Amino acid sequence: MTEDTTLATDDLQRVLVVMAHPDDAEFTCAGTIAKWIKAGRQAHYVVCTSGDKGTKDPDITPHHLAAIREEEQLAAAQMLGIEGVTFLRHRDGELEASKEFRAEIAMLIRDYKPDIVFTHDAWRPYLLHPDHRAVGITVCDAIVAARDHLFLPGQTAIGLEAVEPAELYLWGAAEADYFEDITQTIDLKLDALSKHKSQLRRPNWRQRIRQWAADTGEPHGMAYAEAFKRIAFRR
Ligand SMILES: [Zn+2]
Repeated sequence: MTEDTTLATDDLQRVLVVMAHPDDAEFTCAGTIAKWIKAGRQAHYVVCTSGDKGTKDPDITPHHLAAIREEEQLAAAQMLGIEGVTFLRHRDGELEASKEFRAEIAMLIRDYKPDIVFTHDAWRPYLLHPDHRAVGITVCDAIVAARDHLFLPGQTAIGLEAVEPAELYLWGAAEADYFEDITQTIDLKLDALSKHKSQLRRPNWRQRIRQWAADTGEPHGMAYAEAFKRIAFRR
């Protein structure tokens, strides 16, 4: 296996991944993030809910489930080399694209100063989960609010100055136009995903995710790939 280190000299170093639930990033972008970390980038996770409704077990409480899922997310992130995880602890299934939520995400963007942001594609038709829609919309709106100082003047006044990321990647995109070869990190992605034990009910999950990555890569001459809609701002 050869390591791709072409990103090490790239000026786009900091990556912020904003997801609705623990495990969303491992399913969708962890192969790409792990590859980029190996090549010298840094990445931070923001997890908007702790997934406290994600179970069929009638005996588990939401608080207990949230604690389990945060532990699972921390273990997965550590395996990938993520430098930090921020849990916002909103209620699972109840996220809305409000001004308050937008300001919260914009504050995190202004604080972390990412060059690259990853999140859900809210424009995919028939995207069922309301949290995925709300986070996708809110992150886009927050990027706009974070990049001009007259937005959120209270944040500007306390030193959280305007920040303009260079690129946005949306996973689960209906119109994907960027395909990252994750052949070197597919096993790491699957191992990180395996940390989310509470969510992996089907015994053949590993084979299904591997096949999904193979099907994504095949038209592009890649053994395994992840797909995104890529939006460039600065370049
Ligand atoms: Zn989710």
